[in-house]
Amino acid sequence: MTSPIVFCDFDGTITLADVTDEILNRLSRPAWQEIEQLWMGGEIGSRQCLERQLALVETSASELNTLIDSIPLDPDFLQFVQFVHHSAIPFLVISDGLDLVIRRVLARAGLHRWGRNGIHFYSSAARLVKGRLAISFPHAAKDCVHGCATCKPALIRRLKGEHWPVIYVGDGLSDRYGVREADFVYARRPLLDFCREHDIPSRPFTTFADVERALAKWQGGEAAAEMAEATRSRVTPALAEHSL
Ligand SMILES: [Mg+2]
Ligand SMILES: [Zn+2]
Repeated sequence: MTSPIVFCDFDGTITLADVTDEILNRLSRPAWQEIEQLWMGGEIGSRQCLERQLALVETSASELNTLIDSIPLDPDFLQFVQFVHHSAIPFLVISDGLDLVIRRVLARAGLHRWGRNGIHFYSSAARLVKGRLAISFPHAAKDCVHGCATCKPALIRRLKGEHWPVIYVGDGLSDRYGVREADFVYARRPLLDFCREHDIPSRPFTTFADVERALAKWQGGEAAAEMAEATRSRVTPALAEHSL
């Protein structure tokens, strides 16, 4: 009998576009792209990256809300949330993104009461003050060595409890530290390529319906052989790191 727990990225995973990137694309001065390059190259962490980028944004509440409301959602996400709820599978969203964005997107999906920052989702926090985004990082970890805005590996270690397997769903570079704490990853590109390069057990997914089908198999006790094998035989690189 297994008792899975699911950790899930937000931008580009639950939404089909990265909302922070869209905010920067449409509402920021172009210098944000130079800062993005530093982050992609690993020269700065996501916390410093977000702080510096969001300082370039000037907007109004109505402009920001219109943008957020234009972002498409994974078509099967709502059904997936109902599935994990009925199956009593813990499902936690961990995101470098902004709580005001996540709240609004979830509310639009009909999940008004489902989460707030620190309950069901863990993210950076932002308020719009006189046209500027005031940002803070309630889930940056003290012992984080990556400079994370939201330290995904620290949250997974803190929240996973006795659950097995630890499933991770994500799409991108912001998941590169989090996936090392997972037993199995459902990934869109470019995260899928990262997992394959680093021998992290993973499968591609197109929509949340694919993840739901796989979890239903776990629940039914007939985990796909390749997954069971992959998670059992794996020496977690992250564990090796932490034992130093
Ligand atoms: Mg993402
Ligand atoms: Zn970190």
